[in-house]
Amino acid sequence: MNRRKFLTILGSAGVASTLGTAATATKAEAGHVFPYYDESYGVLHDTTRCIGCRRCEEACQKVNDLPKPDKSFDDLSVTATRRRTSADAWTVVNKYEVDGKPFFRKLQCFHCNDPACASACFAKCFRKLPNGAVVYEGSQCVGCRYCMIACPFYVPGFEYDEALDPLVQKCTFCEPRLQEGKLPGCVEACPMDALTFGRRSDLIRIARARISENPGKYVNYIYGEHDAGGTAWMVLAPAVDGKGAKVEQNPIDAGHTMKQLGLNTHLGTQPMGELTYGALGAVPMIVAFWPVLFGGAYAITKRREAMAKQAQDAAVNEARQDVAVAVDAAVRKLEETEGPGAADRARRAMTEALKAREAETAHARHGEEN
Ligand code: SF4
Ligand code: SF4
Ligand code: SF4
Repeated sequence: MNRRKFLTILGSAGVASTLGTAATATKAEAGHVFPYYDESYGVLHDTTRCIGCRRCEEACQKVNDLPKPDKSFDDLSVTATRRRTSADAWTVVNKYEVDGKPFFRKLQCFHCNDPACASACFAKCFRKLPNGAVVYEGSQCVGCRYCMIACPFYVPGFEYDEALDPLVQKCTFCEPRLQEGKLPGCVEACPMDALTFGRRSDLIRIARARISENPGKYVNYIYGEHDAGGTAWMVLAPAVDGKGAKVEQNPIDAGHTMKQLGLNTHLGTQPMGELTYGALGAVPMIVAFWPVLFGGAYAITKRREAMAKQAQDAAVNEARQDVAVAVDAAVRKLEETEGPGAADRARRAMTEALKAREAETAHARHGEEN
């Protein structure tokens, strides 16, 4: 057994028992909306090792009992397309050109330290667990898909084809397997040790060691260490022109490489969840109105499945009117209790929310029609 596998198995043993109360930061202490668990786990994806074999995709499909893809996992040509994760494919591996040379990167949920999806979901379907996983439980899900808009990595997928009870789907960090002391399916299947599982703090140390012990091999940047407030899954990127030392002095070059790998380095270090929470909390009454707005969205989502397009349009208009009536009544009530200024702020914020909601719905429908 090599050292890397040992680290991953050591790391996974007894996950449930060792993580109980390791939350060390609160919103007030560190700007986090969610507690920060410094004993939590993560995965380091080393793109210099990844060969784009798609074994991780296949393992994910198998361990999670997902539908088989149209093209077999042996067909590596699909990696040339910029695929995104979906309800049926919780991880995909794509090929990217980095300064003229091909590299592969695995996409899945980053399991953010402070997940925007969770902050955006008023129905509280998402939870950040002490072991690092961000998990979704859909019994309260109203199908608003606001989590999909909020996620900075475009990760959650929606079961558009599910007629009766469409839900959001995404990588679970193989949480049920972690509870059994097993590795995530994708990590276990990777033949190149391109995926290392371990405590997040250990992974950062390992990543730093790889960068410093292999001058010129990696850019001096651990994607996810701080991006979007920090993520459990992190990425190491290649310095293909052998200018590692120079990159170290010029972090802009690291950003250039990350961008070529399809990674956004402009998310900042502030937790995304905090931004989402802040947006929702800017006018506190909006939070109270959210169920009203998404009640309309829920009706649209559920009812449109069984309808002809004309009937769907009628349903959308009907739901929109219902929402408008409910919002109007709520704003009038607010005006009585809080005054005209608060009512104006609420009206403006809700108009923006509805516009965003409608744009997202139109986008989703456009995607389905194409
Ligand atoms: S199994 Fe490993 S080497 Fe193969 S595509 Fe996935 S991450 Fe890359
Ligand atoms: S915000 Fe996106 S990447 Fe982060 S935990 Fe939620 S779904 Fe995953
Ligand atoms: S951790 Fe599990 S659910 Fe997530 S990509 Fe890997 S195999 Fe799929």
